[in-house]
Amino acid sequence: MGIPYGRQQIGQDDIDAVVETLQADFLTQGPKIAEFEKLFAEYVGAKYAVAVSNGTAALHLGALALGVNEGSKVITTPITFAASSNSILYCGGQIDFVDVNSQTGLIDLEQVKLKLESSEPGTYSGIIPVDFAGKAVITEELRNLADAHGCWIMEDACHAPGGYYLDSNGRKERCGEGNYSDVTVFSFHPVKHIACGEGGMITTNSEEVFKKLEILRTHGITKRPDLLTQNDGGWYYEMHDLGYNYRITDIQAALGITQLSKQQEGVARRRAIAKRYDEAFGNVANISTLATEDEGHAFHLYVVLVDDRKGLYEFLRTHEIYSQVHYIPVHLQPYYKGLGWKNGDLPNAEHYYSRCLSLPMYPSLTDQEQQFVIDRVIEFLGK
Ligand SMILES: *Cc1c(COP(=O)(O)O)cnc(C)c1O
Repeated sequence: MGIPYGRQQIGQDDIDAVVETLQADFLTQGPKIAEFEKLFAEYVGAKYAVAVSNGTAALHLGALALGVNEGSKVITTPITFAASSNSILYCGGQIDFVDVNSQTGLIDLEQVKLKLESSEPGTYSGIIPVDFAGKAVITEELRNLADAHGCWIMEDACHAPGGYYLDSNGRKERCGEGNYSDVTVFSFHPVKHIACGEGGMITTNSEEVFKKLEILRTHGITKRPDLLTQNDGGWYYEMHDLGYNYRITDIQAALGITQLSKQQEGVARRRAIAKRYDEAFGNVANISTLATEDEGHAFHLYVVLVDDRKGLYEFLRTHEIYSQVHYIPVHLQPYYKGLGWKNGDLPNAEHYYSRCLSLPMYPSLTDQEQQFVIDRVIEFLGK
């Protein structure tokens, strides 16, 4: 099958956990979900975690719990998967993209600041920073901006479980810990760090947000006696809000638990792979990489920048190396162009897109395979 850019790692422990759940009483809404949530909350250091059906559902519910509606205008980055901004459109809100920093590919906090300071108070209700490639956005800085302008922060950490940065006091701020973000969302799609098949998680330290998420995940329906307006008997439930069926299954949660137990190791392996790429390309002409130096980078992706990106992509394919492009800027998608965005609006993102390529990066990538990738990239550049 060649060498893909990302791939899940499934062991016998994962298979056993899924089979055990299949033989147990609950395929969904059973004990594995709460166990997964508790372990995940501990892993990232958050008070609450709510598991949902996928990362997109996590973003949508996060937006709803933060009160996004027709009057909301939200800032995010164009270098992300479309779901980051779609979540706001689902709620009837509007998106305003801010350009990225060319060195990191992350939303440029200076430009966020300029945008907020040059707008009427109350224009924006929130910001969705994306920990692109696994590099954590400095949410400590973003929080100050957000607070000054009455904005919430929903961090899209789909690339970054296990990621962190050092704050101004030298403290490790883990993605999902939520000291500076109101909610943080994760995805458990197989190309991400933790594979559930499909799955997502929302973490928060706000009890109020947590309660909303729990009920919105399952149709806005509750059976909790303390929340009911009346109680007709054991069968009785009430729908309090217009929610969704965004539940994860017990089968997926069981897989999430065993996957999570190997997560620390997986991130360490990703960092080792990144270091080796860094060393291999450090002195090579005509190739550069996104800033990778920080110790807390979770390396969902390893992105190189080259002039002939399409040439490199095609050349690698002839050697069965399946690199990928992350991302086509969201504002250039025809749907978003239909909302008024156009080429040239976000020059850094567009320039980045013309040169970026994600090389294979996943824990089970062997040293030999990685060397093969490195050799082929260098061979192409020397042509
Ligand atoms: C994968 C991803 C999502 C969506 O997650 P799904 O689980 O595929 O719905 C959202 N944002 C980013 C940045 C992602 O990489």
